[in-house]
Amino acid sequence: MNDKGMSHYISHIKTLKDCFLHVYPSSIYQLARFAKKENITFNNIKAVLAESENVYPEQRTFVESVFNCRYYSSYGHSEKLVAAGECEHTADYHVWPTYGYLELLDENDNVITEKGQVGEIVGTGFINTVMPFIRYKTGDFAEYVGDYCEACQRHHLIIKNIRGHRIQENLVARDNSLISWTAVNMHDDTFDDVLQYQFYQDTPGVAVIKIRASKVFSEESKQRIINNISNKLQHRIEVSVAQVDDIPLTERGKSIFVDQKTNISS
Ligand SMILES: [Zn+2]
Repeated sequence: MNDKGMSHYISHIKTLKDCFLHVYPSSIYQLARFAKKENITFNNIKAVLAESENVYPEQRTFVESVFNCRYYSSYGHSEKLVAAGECEHTADYHVWPTYGYLELLDENDNVITEKGQVGEIVGTGFINTVMPFIRYKTGDFAEYVGDYCEACQRHHLIIKNIRGHRIQENLVARDNSLISWTAVNMHDDTFDDVLQYQFYQDTPGVAVIKIRASKVFSEESKQRIINNISNKLQHRIEVSVAQVDDIPLTERGKSIFVDQKTNISS
């Protein structure tokens, strides 16, 4: 996802007739930022189909505005346990009943039945006959919405706010308290000159923001990031900025916001 690669992808997309983009949320967000920066508009994309990573509402809205279409995200894993997707009316996830059995469990391993409660996704797959998993704990979490979608009237288990392994989403403050990345997410010009960024943390109270920047990245931009993030974090974490050429994916091929290496449990 460097500038040259992204120009190439966009030229290719421009040659297509009506099409769908099947993407990772982080990669389509980068592509959208690039297209916006280059003032490129689209009218041939029917929908963006995203999966495998956390989806952040502000990123979804931004991608929809750039590609001028609806963004649908779906949930699944390579173990082929359970799958879920959005319907035509809402962004909540409808669990597919013929693919696998999904349970949302609280800390005491009880099935969650109260709307708004968050639990761990535990799956029993129906389609993987080579290596069946029974009540496999995914380490992913979601909020329980209900057993029925009022918008489309389909009877599915409905969940929302799916989040991958929680520790990757948290920063650890000096006093060892956790600060959720979603609470830190910036909606202003903080990351304007940035294509991709990630927090790296190996010590409570200290974090490095790794930045992959667009061509122009001034000392001023760097200072703006440090100031804005420090303020947002209420100076509970000392931040610095390091410019890097590449921000690698995790061993499982996922893109995360916080590369968390401190010894604190989620
Ligand atoms: Zn629905």
